[in-house]
Amino acid sequence: MITTLALLLIRQTAGPTVQADPVVAAIIKESKTNSKVMAMLTEVTSKYGPRLTSSTNLDKASQWAMATFKKMGCKNVHLEPWGSFPVGFDRGRNSFGRMNSPEKRDFEFTSPSWSEGTRGPLKGKAVLNPKNAEELAARMADLKGAWVIMDRQPRRLRANEKPSPEVQAQIDLDAKVDAAGIAGRVYGSRSDLVITSGNFRDKTFESHPTDRSVTVRKADFDAIQKALTDGKPIELEFNLDQRWRKGPVVNSNIIAEIPGTEKPDEVVIVSGHFDSWDGPGSLGASDNATGSCTAMEAARLLLRAGAKPKRTIRFILWTGEEQGLFGSRSYVIQHEKELDKISAVFVDDGGSNYNGGYTGHPDMGPVLEAAFAPAVEAFPDLPMKFVVRANPKTSIGSDQDSFNAVGVPGFFTSESSVEKYGAQNYNFIHHTQHDHMKYVIPIYLDQTAVSHAVVAWRLANNPGLLPRYPKFDYTLNPASIPGFPGKTK
Ligand SMILES: [Zn+2]
Repeated sequence: MITTLALLLIRQTAGPTVQADPVVAAIIKESKTNSKVMAMLTEVTSKYGPRLTSSTNLDKASQWAMATFKKMGCKNVHLEPWGSFPVGFDRGRNSFGRMNSPEKRDFEFTSPSWSEGTRGPLKGKAVLNPKNAEELAARMADLKGAWVIMDRQPRRLRANEKPSPEVQAQIDLDAKVDAAGIAGRVYGSRSDLVITSGNFRDKTFESHPTDRSVTVRKADFDAIQKALTDGKPIELEFNLDQRWRKGPVVNSNIIAEIPGTEKPDEVVIVSGHFDSWDGPGSLGASDNATGSCTAMEAARLLLRAGAKPKRTIRFILWTGEEQGLFGSRSYVIQHEKELDKISAVFVDDGGSNYNGGYTGHPDMGPVLEAAFAPAVEAFPDLPMKFVVRANPKTSIGSDQDSFNAVGVPGFFTSESSVEKYGAQNYNFIHHTQHDHMKYVIPIYLDQTAVSHAVVAWRLANNPGLLPRYPKFDYTLNPASIPGFPGKTK
């Protein structure tokens, strides 16, 4: 409980919205004097690294998140399984790629998640991909043990795609090149960003493709091509420190609560996805350890402020977001009977700019504006606004979409920046080799955590649930969730 003197001091400095509510005042004071967002962010990224869904890293980081929620004083902290992947995938920290000759050059590169590693450094000469069967026959001996330089982008068939004759010819040729015993294929990125993705489907620990594939940034690929054009012998070396993990691997969301005192069945959800891609160089910092840590910090701020909300405030760290919003979509199906009692779901997943506000139905505007007003008072340089959104089902590509699709108000913290503190260029960072701590902007994370905390607090104590769009029909498809465990609620 805050002292009268402290309250008086805050009253003098913080204006009318904050002074009326000692919990809000205490949230802001705790953030301004004792923020822990950066400490949590540093801990999770340095101790556990990136957190691919189905990886050992994510399992360990999830245990850390649960322990951290418990230490804060959260209740009902648990893992809630949403499905499973047939096989898991782990990437170590020792991957590298380089040219040893004719010049020494370290590459920035990636390889797909759920693909074959090298089990140690693997050297080989660089050889151009044969364009047809004749070239292949002429250069068969050359290909053995070589890193094959590709003049096209990786081509993977979509589910149920019937390949055209040209594509089928490529697939047949690729199979013959594989049979020649190559080290792997080297693709060039279109820019100096290398983007990591990958597909877990139709693979098991025992049975999976064994071809290797890397993508190097454009500058590195240009250097390889120049050496090829010059006719110089080229030696490449890759250590793809990556392993299959025996499945099925159960995947879970991480859940923690501050239980409601009057209407515990009614819920405000504050969330972010905890999983990330895992390409070399990435720690999954801005996508999305930041959004996870702002949710965790919001929990801590509320508990330190002694918040006893009327409704339950539930904190959820989703997983499987990057592969298809699996954690949140499964949650919606599993909790179908509770959907009418979820007042709002907040998702922070757009990098480390600040929370510039929300979009939604016009009736939501006054409630949300009153709810976030203290955050604007606390960070007067960082304005927030409510913007009307015409389509209730508008999707942005993160976990709030799963809720908006069924009529539960879902909000994506609209990523904003001001000149004074700079802007994070999210496209340069997310899913690339640059997603590490260097590009995180601490004050924006503090503002996001405070806005989460005060908005959740105000909505949890609001006379009614947040207004909604008119009801519409929707369908839930459990078959779209890999390894869906059944409705548990
Ligand atoms: Zn994300």
